[in-house]
Amino acid sequence: MGLLVVGSLALDTVYTPFDKVEDALGGSATYISLAASYFSGPVQMVGVVGTDFPKEYIELLMEHKIDIGGLQTIDGGKTFRWGGKYHYDLNVRDTLFTELNVFEEFDPIIPEDFRKSKYVCLGNIDPTLQLKVLDQLTDPQFIVCDTMNYWIEGKKDELLNLLKQVHVLVINDSEARLLANEPNLIKASKIITDMGPHTLIIKKGEHGAMLFTDGTIFSAPAYPMEMIFDPTGAGDSFAGGFTGYLYKTRDLSPNNLKCAVIYGSSMASFCVEKFSTKGLEDLSYLQVHDRYREFLNISRIDET
Ligand code: AMP
Repeated sequence: MGLLVVGSLALDTVYTPFDKVEDALGGSATYISLAASYFSGPVQMVGVVGTDFPKEYIELLMEHKIDIGGLQTIDGGKTFRWGGKYHYDLNVRDTLFTELNVFEEFDPIIPEDFRKSKYVCLGNIDPTLQLKVLDQLTDPQFIVCDTMNYWIEGKKDELLNLLKQVHVLVINDSEARLLANEPNLIKASKIITDMGPHTLIIKKGEHGAMLFTDGTIFSAPAYPMEMIFDPTGAGDSFAGGFTGYLYKTRDLSPNNLKCAVIYGSSMASFCVEKFSTKGLEDLSYLQVHDRYREFLNISRIDET
């Protein structure tokens, strides 16, 4: 049994004030799986691509020991494409285009040997598809889920059905406000946890992340970085690091959830250091652990 990851695989076109890339490897499942692959295997990926998806990207996933047994390739189909442009303030992003292509007809069939997975990370895709995934699993025990404004506005009922079944929701601050219809994040967290998930993580970009669990709040810093090249995938890398660490340790205590938030933040910080998935391609577990320790150091104080 492995860590099941379902989401998009994409060819991304990204413009930042520093550079641009076209048809680079992207997608929620890609970032989640790569980030999680540094913890423990196997990561079992489910998604869809077209025949235009470059072979070297498949090889990269396999080099990271990601089991692509659930990856469908649609004959003659075109891979999902997404384009985004970042402003000088890298927290601001415009979506230039979203071409669903093979995603339009995607039926997420979970291979027989993935169905017993206990740990699941649902990347940002249509909540109808996320529900379809859960319907096929025999006994999922820890379900982490991401979503976005697009689905909160367009598929609210399906999303609310899904939230009844998930244990952890990972969203950013503007999405939390939109979902709860409440500007204050503390009040919003109570409204959202009443929808189903016992744990909520609100990502705040370069201002870190907040964990709400078991009536407590934990605030994690962001890594102080001098150079952010490409924020694309930071949220997914966070989710991959968070879930990957919990899958490795099999400890869902509130304190270990806090450690997982720091590991998630560590993976997000590696992700943004380079374009596309490059920052997640050649790490070692030691580097990941060192960054985790640096995170602890920047937030530790001695009581006087
Ligand atoms: P993030 O920066 O964490 O929001 O994730 C960006 C990644 O999500 C990119 O690699 C995109 O290919 C992918 N993405 C963007 N929009 C969608 C969508 N509507 N459905 C699935 N994946 C998406």
